[in-house]
Amino acid sequence: MSLSSLEKNLNQLQDLRERFRREPIKHLIDGEWVSSSNKETFINGSPIDESIIGEVALGTQQDVDEACQAAHNAFSDWAAMSGAKRRELLHAIADSIEANAEEIALVESLDTGQPIRFMSKAAIRGAENYRYFADMAPSARDGLALPAQKHMNYTVRQPIGPVGVITPWNTPFMLSTWKIAPALAAGCTVVHKPAEWSPCTAALLAKLMEEAGLPKGVINTVHGLGETTGKALTENALIRAIAFVGESATGSNIIRQGAETLKRVHFELGGKNPVIVFDDADLDRAEDAVIFMIYSLNGERCTSSSRLLIQESIADEFIERIKKRVGLLRVGHPLDPDTEIGPLIHASHLEKVISYFEVARREGVTIAAGGKKIDIQGKGHFVEPTLLTEADSSMRIAQEEIFGPVLTVIDFKDEEEAVTLANNVKYGLAGYVWTSNTGRSVRMAENLDVGMVWVNSENNRHLSAPFGGMKASGIGRDGGDYSFDFYMETKNICIATGEHTIPKLGKARKS
Ligand code: NAD
Repeated sequence: MSLSSLEKNLNQLQDLRERFRREPIKHLIDGEWVSSSNKETFINGSPIDESIIGEVALGTQQDVDEACQAAHNAFSDWAAMSGAKRRELLHAIADSIEANAEEIALVESLDTGQPIRFMSKAAIRGAENYRYFADMAPSARDGLALPAQKHMNYTVRQPIGPVGVITPWNTPFMLSTWKIAPALAAGCTVVHKPAEWSPCTAALLAKLMEEAGLPKGVINTVHGLGETTGKALTENALIRAIAFVGESATGSNIIRQGAETLKRVHFELGGKNPVIVFDDADLDRAEDAVIFMIYSLNGERCTSSSRLLIQESIADEFIERIKKRVGLLRVGHPLDPDTEIGPLIHASHLEKVISYFEVARREGVTIAAGGKKIDIQGKGHFVEPTLLTEADSSMRIAQEEIFGPVLTVIDFKDEEEAVTLANNVKYGLAGYVWTSNTGRSVRMAENLDVGMVWVNSENNRHLSAPFGGMKASGIGRDGGDYSFDFYMETKNICIATGEHTIPKLGKARKS
């Protein structure tokens, strides 16, 4: 353990913690930092040692309504602003994210338990999201020319209006920027409801956006619980669309809640993603990727490869290799740069993850590694990285999203069985295929019912590429122009270019 780096990080956090302790996190509504209308707050704790980080304003119906009204009032000027000016403002936000990357990373680790080795990159990725969509802002309105006989059709895009953005607690900073940056670039104003278990970096992001010069009301952040604050946002008639990242069941609730006001929705939901390893794969690289995609980010990752489908002929050898690596994973304080797995976000999430160890025992699988909670200095929401082998696809541990550092292994005989097993879940977010056979990789990619396939790769991202899931994993795609399709309305304009025949109703026929 590099104690000195841990100590340095802890020292740097002291001032930040002091600030969170001194001042409750407030909402940003119409350019003002405000407490909740009824002055109520909730307590935010750290998963590392269960200490209190601070208090957070608990958003009321009135707070949400005021934020939506502010976003509504700010909309027409923001939408009318030139794309070039919006680009400038979004680059200014990216500049301040970069300038504050270290603080963001430290606070994110403190608040979520995510290892600092991953969080330092999350802040930089957040800045990239702003830069990428900033550069697209000037052309966001552009449409198509669709000439027809005696008519010219052309399309333009217009921002849909004020939108609600509701985000989860896993990598909350990066995910918030991933949703908010394209909305702003498109010309939408935003009301953001961050997750109640990780409010700190959402507050930092709101501050950075305000300081970078966004006009008041363009970004509003209201903290609070999903069932009250989030629900009020989804029901508000001034909000035209909801961009949501979170659990599939919450997605269903949001559709119900938004039905009355006919909300457009964009959902990035849960996953139970397969990583399929064939016996002709480069097993060294596959091993690295399998380990990385389930045990990085504490396994609290929508695209985690939580099911390993392994070809029978190499199953024993490959599982043995994985087992050795799992035993070497370093669980510890997330601010220690050596740490690979930190504490899970919250006591109730820890309970959920641990409950699956009991389910695994009942279902009769082998717990080949891990399977227990760990206390580090008697505290924190730590769990052992866990490997469950000899599983069957019908088991709960093979079907349900555990969202922790838990890998379920299932054998398959051939390509056909691999596809059947891979698709035999309600989710369809991502799939990973490891093979050296090009034809097979193409066939597998086509046959997997998922929104994204990585072949001989592990979740490499390109911001122009579509990101999203099928089945219970989502509705819609993010990334590049796909994001603008959600945040904008496409309007068709048809102009006659000559004198075509117009039907003459109500005119007496000439005799
Ligand atoms: P969650 O659904 O419990 O909460 C997400 C957000 O929704 C929070 O801000 C919460 O307060 C809010 N919310 C809860 N109930 C609501 C309601 N009735 N109305 C409005 N808002 C409500 O999800 P979580 O536990 O915070 O996050 C983990 C989940 O997110 C996992 O399932 C994970 O797979 C998913 N996720 C998906 C992606 C993706 O891109 N597909 C990315 C990250 C996380």
